[in-house]
Amino acid sequence: PGLRAHPLFTQCANALLASFKIWNMATVGGNICRSFSAASMVSLAVGLDATAHIWHRDGADRDLPVADLVIGNGINVLGPGEVLRAVDFPGHALAARTGFRKIALAELGRSGAVVTGRIDPDGTTVYGITAATEWPTVLRYPSPPSADRLRHDISAAPGYHTDPLGSADWRRAVSAVLAEEIRLELEGTA
Ligand SMILES: Cc1cc2nc3c(=O)[nH]c(=O)nc-3n(C[C@H](O)[C@H](O)[C@H](O)COP(=O)(O)OP(=O)(O)OC[C@H]3O[C@@H](n4cnc5c(N)ncnc54)[C@H](O)[C@@H]3O)c2cc1C
Repeated sequence: PGLRAHPLFTQCANALLASFKIWNMATVGGNICRSFSAASMVSLAVGLDATAHIWHRDGADRDLPVADLVIGNGINVLGPGEVLRAVDFPGHALAARTGFRKIALAELGRSGAVVTGRIDPDGTTVYGITAATEWPTVLRYPSPPSADRLRHDISAAPGYHTDPLGSADWRRAVSAVLAEEIRLELEGTA
């Protein structure tokens, strides 16, 4: 009760490429640590401000935002012997209203862009872009942004990339369209 963000968990799990094997065998930690830009457990964690709890083999441990863990397509800041032990989701994000959109060139294909949005109980608004950018893009506002502001910030963000799943220009453009759909949905005016 009160954890209104729960639909995002199913939506992000279903955003993984349609494979029985992945849906049933892949782990949340493995998906985050593989760190592909299309890693939808990264989309989930970034969209909800989750923190990675990391064990080091010398016994030390550290915490950092999942958004800072992934720094490229298949690249992260984990050092040799480090293990992702847990992912912590803060209560304020779990209490948020959320929106989700995914687009892929093929109906069940790997994501070209995944956009999440959320409005916390205090009005803080966060948009996350993954798959379209090589590393997670997080846009944070003290209150819901206008359509113009959101479109501008998404268009100006760095990191849009080109690969067989889509061109950088297409990814930039569809990210803005998907975010606007979420913005309207969260405003209740969609
Ligand atoms: C058909 C198919 C479809 C796929 N679709 C997608 C997709 O849509 N999006 C996507 O991102 N990927 C996809 N993948 C790639 C990959 O299978 C997934 O990213 C998957 O979620 C990885 O999870 P896993 O538990 O199998 O990780 P593993 O393959 O077991 O591990 C991945 C890497 O992370 C390391 N690792 C695992 N757990 C931890 C941990 N707790 N701490 C530190 N390091 C760890 C492993 O040592 C390894 O280097 C796909 C693969 C296949 C075969």
